[in-house]
Amino acid sequence: MADGRTKEVERKKTDIPEDVFKRMFKSALEARKNAYAPYSHYRVGAALLTDGGKIYTGCNVENASYSVTNCAERTAFFSAVAAGEKRFSAIVIAGSPEGELTQLAWPCGVCRQVMREFCEPEHFWVFAAKSERDYEARLLKELLPDSFGPDNLI
Ligand SMILES: [Zn+2]
Repeated sequence: MADGRTKEVERKKTDIPEDVFKRMFKSALEARKNAYAPYSHYRVGAALLTDGGKIYTGCNVENASYSVTNCAERTAFFSAVAAGEKRFSAIVIAGSPEGELTQLAWPCGVCRQVMREFCEPEHFWVFAAKSERDYEARLLKELLPDSFGPDNLI
């Protein structure tokens, strides 16, 4: 975001309260510490908010065979689903090369499709954050337009 005024507009357009966002961002940072990224050195933490207000976290978990690497977002989703959760309202993603958060990490295409499985594209918020004040938010429908989802198979 270019200036403070734009950030304020960004914050107001979501329906996630600021204190909840801050809690999620802190949780994402904590999860990022556990990232297993010996190959890419790109460390990501994610914090997923359920409709009931619980937060589930995830980090990226790489693998020597590369293709079975799991992103932080999917780790968070799969942990939450394994705990019995299936309704979500937002996710905060904090990712960058090792060290300080220097960039906004938007979810990869695979993770966007996993979000589509469990979330309403018109209501689910995706935050890419560098700090509590420096972030951007998009609805899932903006990140995955004209998507294919569970309702196509009913
Ligand atoms: Zn991903």
